[in-house]
Amino acid sequence: MRQRTVIWTIVIGFFVAAALGLALTRPRAPETISDTRVMMDTSIEIRIFGSKRTLEAAFKRIQEIDELMSRTRKGSDIYKVNQQAGGEWVKVSADTFHVIETALRFAETTGGLFDPTITPLVELWGIGTGNPQIPDQEAIEQAKGLVDYRRVDLAPSSRRVRLTQPGMGLDLGAIGKGYAADSVAQLLRERGVESALLNLGGNVYVIGGKPDGTPWRIGIQDPFSDRGTHVTILEVRDTSIVTSGPYERFFIRNGKRYHHILNPETGYPADTGLASVSIISPSSITADALSTSVFLLGLEKGLALLEEMEDVEAMLITNDRKVYLTSGLKQQVKSLAKGFEFHD
Ligand code: ADP
Ligand code: MG
Repeated sequence: MRQRTVIWTIVIGFFVAAALGLALTRPRAPETISDTRVMMDTSIEIRIFGSKRTLEAAFKRIQEIDELMSRTRKGSDIYKVNQQAGGEWVKVSADTFHVIETALRFAETTGGLFDPTITPLVELWGIGTGNPQIPDQEAIEQAKGLVDYRRVDLAPSSRRVRLTQPGMGLDLGAIGKGYAADSVAQLLRERGVESALLNLGGNVYVIGGKPDGTPWRIGIQDPFSDRGTHVTILEVRDTSIVTSGPYERFFIRNGKRYHHILNPETGYPADTGLASVSIISPSSITADALSTSVFLLGLEKGLALLEEMEDVEAMLITNDRKVYLTSGLKQQVKSLAKGFEFHD
């Protein structure tokens, strides 16, 4: 008995030592690493098939963008522009200038429903802060009067920006995470990463397929159920999927739900009969701006805008659980969760 125990100990010991030796001497192949951090006012997950250093560089890039474009962070480009509203021109970084220009393009496209000067209304409602409120009508009228994308002056040659009236303010909340996703994806590709998944608070970007070569599987959130419950799952490579919906941030008062996508015409949360809009596009800044824009435009005008766009697919879900797909998605989405039905 005793002798057998000794032999077994030697045999097992040999294998453990061999395995350890192998692990120590083998060159380190890239592996899947990931981390989740709270940044840009949301939870951000980065999963890459690559090195720890590259992962850190990716988070650092997000930090930089937040430091430039946050509305509330003292010293950011946007903070400075808002401080100077009605006063001086402010020079901003190339990143910020590009995002402001893009946001203004979407403002024009949507006739001002998407409007990056939404700040006075955002601050008045305080949705997503610890202290949201239903403002009185007078305050809404006053804030509405300060929301107007046509009163943003741009000087491209010197990258300067000016808001023409005191009290105005830029808010890039509907587009910034899309830009951050594009920017991190570019950084990762430059470093040779061929497989990655970025999730910036529901704003998803995938590089390549999964490390095993199969496509990434991205669930589209069921807008009526708990987080993580899906209407359908898309199989994708090298693209971005961004969803906007009233379920993202809201508060409930007297049994009514007030959410964070505001209609600059009414001064109230947009009520267009849509429960969510998902956009699939290789450009995440486009997907982000467009998901908010289509949500604000509503079903008919939203679908019309999507028709005009290139390299964009979309899935719209109405409050009565009808699902609308652009033609490129129809081949892919064959089934939906219980209770949802296709509209053709
Ligand atoms: P999320 O940030 O939850 O992904 P969106 O991309 O749809 O959602 O952006 C919503 C954010 O955009 C709001 O929190 C606010 O900062 C800003 N916003 C609200 N209403 C508008 C609007 N009409 N036009 C542009 N931005 C808006
Ligand atoms: Mg958006």
